[in-house]
Amino acid sequence: MNKHVLLLLIAALFTPALFAGSPGEKKKKSKSPHPKNIILLIGDGMGAAQIYAGYTAQKGIMNITSMPVSGFSVTYSASDYITDSGAGGTALATGVKTNNYSIGVDANGKPVKSILEIAEQKGLSTGLVATSAITHATPASFIAHTSNRSKYADIAFDFLRTDIDVFIGGGYNHFARRADSLNLIDSLKARGYVIARNLKDVDVPTTQRLAALLDGEHMPRMSKGRGDMLPDATEMALKMLKRNKKGFFIMIEGSQIDWGGHDNDVQYIIDEMTDFDKAVGKALRFAANDGETLVIVTADHETGGFGITGGSLVTGEVQGAFLSKDHTSTMVPVFAFGPGSEKFCGVQDNTDIFKKSIELLGLNK
Ligand code: MG
Ligand code: ZN
Repeated sequence: MNKHVLLLLIAALFTPALFAGSPGEKKKKSKSPHPKNIILLIGDGMGAAQIYAGYTAQKGIMNITSMPVSGFSVTYSASDYITDSGAGGTALATGVKTNNYSIGVDANGKPVKSILEIAEQKGLSTGLVATSAITHATPASFIAHTSNRSKYADIAFDFLRTDIDVFIGGGYNHFARRADSLNLIDSLKARGYVIARNLKDVDVPTTQRLAALLDGEHMPRMSKGRGDMLPDATEMALKMLKRNKKGFFIMIEGSQIDWGGHDNDVQYIIDEMTDFDKAVGKALRFAANDGETLVIVTADHETGGFGITGGSLVTGEVQGAFLSKDHTSTMVPVFAFGPGSEKFCGVQDNTDIFKKSIELLGLNK
C-alpha cells in the first residue's frame, strides 16, 4: 500500500472522532427528518483547492471533509457570470439572484427577506459571526438591504431593524463613529444588547443579546494575531442560541479565505482555512451531541482561480498557482451533516440552499 493511501485511511478512521464528542457524552437521536436548528458556515472564496490546501496542511485530517454529504453550488449572479460576495451572499441568504454589489435586494433593487429575518419573525433565535466587519457583504446579506454593499453606515443601521440575538465580528466604527454622528452603540444598549469589545468580557449565562464588535474595521488575519476568535465566537453563539426551544439559525463566516485568494497568498489561504475548519469542528460537535441541528458548509464563490501544483500529505507542504486576482465562476463545494443533510447532495443552484433550508426548518408555512 502506498504511503498516501495509508495516511488517508488512517485519517478516515480518526476524522469522525474530531467532532463525535467523547464516548461518555449522551447523543440524542432526532426522530424528525426536520432539523430544529441550522448552522450555515460560509467560507468566503472557498473552492475545492482552498479546502484541499487546508486538508494537506493539516496532513489529511479535517472536519469539513469528514462531513457525510457533499455536493456543488452554482454561483453566477443576476448581473454577472462571476459573482461578488454581495450577490453570492444574497443568493444564500434570500434565495434570490441579484446584481453584483447588491445586498438583500433583488435585481430591481427591491428588498427581499433573508432566512435570518424569516427565522426571527417565526420566533427562532438568530446569529451572525464573521472575521470581517459584521457590516461586510456576507453577513450584511442576511440582515441588510441596499444596492450598494459599501454603504457600511446604512448596513449597520439595519442591524437595529431586526431582533437578531447574537452578532460577533469587527465593524465597531460603523456603529460608533459615524458620519451622521448617530451612536448606534447606545441604541443597541437601549434594546438590551450587551456590547463587548473582547469575547473574554462576555458572561454567557447572564447575556441574552450580544453585540460583540471586536475590532474597529475587520478582524486581523490569523498571522497577525486573531487567535481563536472564530471558533470561540462560534461556541459562544451556539451556547446562547440553543436556549430557544423553537430553534435557531446562525451564519458563521470564514471571511478572509477570500482575501488570501485576492492576494494570491497560499499561506494566507491555509491559515484562514485551518481556522475556519476549527469553527466547523465546533459546529459539528454541537450538532452531533444535539441531534436536531443541520450543519451546512459552503462558499459564495471561488477566489483566485487557485490550483494546487504540488505538496505533501506527510509534511503538510502546499504549492499553489493562481489564474486571477479576483473571483472565478467555478462551482463551489457544499457539505452537510445532520437531519435533512441528504437534500444537499448533487449540483444545486446557490439559491437552492436557501430554499432547502427554509423548507427543512418549516419556515415556508
Ligand atoms: Mg465575505
Ligand atoms: Zn472577494
